[in-house]
Amino acid sequence: MRYISTRGKAPALDFEDVLLTGLATDGGLYVPETLPRYTPEELMALRGLPYDELACRVMFPFVEGSIPESDFRAMVQETYAGFTHRAVAPMVQLDANEWVMELFRGPTLAFKDFALQLLGRLLDYFLEKRNQHVVILGATSGDTGSAAIEGCRHSSHVDIFILHPHERVSEVQRRQMTTVHSDNVHNIAVTGNFDDCQKMVKASFGDQSFLGGKTSLVAVNSINWARIMAQIVYYIYASLALGGPHRSLAFSVPTGNFGDIFAGYLARNMGLPVQQLVVATNQNDILHRFISENQYQPGKLQHTLSPSMDITISSNFERLLFDLYGRDSSGVVDFLEAASQGAVQLEETRWRGARRLFDSYTVNDQRTCEVIGEVYGEAGYLLDPHTAIGVESARRCRRDVTVPMVTMGTAHPAKFPDAVSRSGVDVEAGLPEHLSDLMEREERFTVLNNDLAEIQDFMARNWKFAEN
Ligand SMILES: *Cc1c(COP(=O)(O)O)cnc(C)c1O
Repeated sequence: MRYISTRGKAPALDFEDVLLTGLATDGGLYVPETLPRYTPEELMALRGLPYDELACRVMFPFVEGSIPESDFRAMVQETYAGFTHRAVAPMVQLDANEWVMELFRGPTLAFKDFALQLLGRLLDYFLEKRNQHVVILGATSGDTGSAAIEGCRHSSHVDIFILHPHERVSEVQRRQMTTVHSDNVHNIAVTGNFDDCQKMVKASFGDQSFLGGKTSLVAVNSINWARIMAQIVYYIYASLALGGPHRSLAFSVPTGNFGDIFAGYLARNMGLPVQQLVVATNQNDILHRFISENQYQPGKLQHTLSPSMDITISSNFERLLFDLYGRDSSGVVDFLEAASQGAVQLEETRWRGARRLFDSYTVNDQRTCEVIGEVYGEAGYLLDPHTAIGVESARRCRRDVTVPMVTMGTAHPAKFPDAVSRSGVDVEAGLPEHLSDLMEREERFTVLNNDLAEIQDFMARNWKFAEN
């Protein structure tokens, strides 16, 4: 499989290089040159497979040429063996034809484990082969950091540095990062906000000279293609469990960087019968404004009860834009250039093209809490705030009640006790067994000033082969 950049000016790469690259050299994102396509008969043949086997078969065409199938299969099996439910991605029914797919049965209780557990293993595999070492650098306001740390803690060829804003992430989320005691895991609490952390990450990728040329940085945020690839699988799994390929499905997806839902869009382009994709946003609603009224304009960051969707720009949207422009990079470049100056619109026919599949909705904090309470009352099922936004959006946007609607359950409610208690539901979501002593575990992190030189110096002195 070959991958091309959405901006058209970077070389085409194979899977291995795409994994290790992150952003393309022209600033674009990598997408597959062509997608594998399934006939209904081929989808039929995938029915009833265990999750790991389905995952192996669906993903292999994307990595083919970079890794032998037997090695890949072993890695995929190991990845999903670490999930706590035997179905890996079980579904819970809320109402007639309405479901939640629980994507939070991995080690850190958020859907990001599906991709990052695999990504850590893939990185280690290729770096071992190359006899190379890399440094992963990321900023987090919550879920990404813990999932990335958990995915890379055993990687012998990787050091991981995660910056989080000091005293501004929830206690559960912080502890999920800081109680991982591996020599290659480095948590840095920055005395600034999330934007400050992100700026320092960006600057460090732009000029890596502080590492002295002895190692290089790799990004594991949602622009990394491997993350999208791993997320395609559960859309197919859901469909096959609910009557696919002979029956269409609708999905509602709590969205921030448009990575999860973009995987659903790809599954449909690969031949999965999907009638509708609902973009579910919190008050950071740039995507809702685009889908509902064809207005694309970054707003101001708002802090909400669903922090993993607090974004102003949705990085993976560029991948959809590339398709909406008929894969013409110059259209993408012009659109993004115009968007950096102010509000932009897409040509009406292209926007209508997107509307054939996508609907959208935005849910504020107050309504999110109400929905948690309502669904608990109706079905006795406790939603986390992100998933609650998905369920509410699904109900508001549904086109056809005879089509099963599946909301992606992106996090476990125990990660967000504040939202649950504000909903008035009188029940405490306990942490699952493997995390039950999280609040007693010893934490390790270093507090550093909001200062690029100080942080880079810390990294230069603390990665594996640093001479200090
Ligand atoms: C990351 C995250 C999201 C948003 O996913 P995207 O792929 O960025 O759209 C939604 N919910 C939770 C719980 C998350 O951690």
